[in-house]
Amino acid sequence: APRIGVLALQGAFREHRQRLESLGVAVTEVRLGSDLHGLSGLILPGGESTTMARLMTEYALWEPVRAFHAAGGHLWGTCAGAILLSREVQGAPPQFGRQDSLNLLDVTVQRNAFGRQIDSFTTDLPVRGLNNGFAAVFIRAPAFTRVGEGVEVLASYGEQAVMVRSGRVTATAFHPELTPDVRLHAMFAGQCAAPVVTV
Ligand code: GLN
Repeated sequence: APRIGVLALQGAFREHRQRLESLGVAVTEVRLGSDLHGLSGLILPGGESTTMARLMTEYALWEPVRAFHAAGGHLWGTCAGAILLSREVQGAPPQFGRQDSLNLLDVTVQRNAFGRQIDSFTTDLPVRGLNNGFAAVFIRAPAFTRVGEGVEVLASYGEQAVMVRSGRVTATAFHPELTPDVRLHAMFAGQCAAPVVTV
């Protein structure tokens, strides 16, 4: 059975842990590069991406997470975690300048893409691979405004791509860990369980 890590620097990591454990998946909270050892997948949770990026630097996690991916690890970012995975980040506060990211997903992500007045909403979202809609919770959510070649859009809300996948990297603008529906966690655990095929 796969063991999956949850980046536990800040944000909604406990909720991800609970969803995975309810599926019988063994979970490791990741704070150090050495915590990645033996994992098949890593979830980057929602929270505040500028804070998480600063903590990634403080805990020296940028290169270990990139190396984990290069070695065959699966990654799933939700909301702020999705921002961390993206190639290009738009909408960082000016004092931050260019926002650091892992650059493991060829997309441009726009922070807080759904406006500030409506901080939070839930919508019944059709997701490719699921038989019926997913109750998707958006909280100051980003959107993927440019989707590179080879990046598959798995869900859209209006005009905006809100779930994308490329190879072993998946990103959702919404928070599947804040609803009791575990189908997306089961989907990720299934991917992590599949053997990595190298040609
Ligand atoms: N707006 C937050 C950010 O840019 C993300 C919000 C969230 O993760 N719920 O980091």
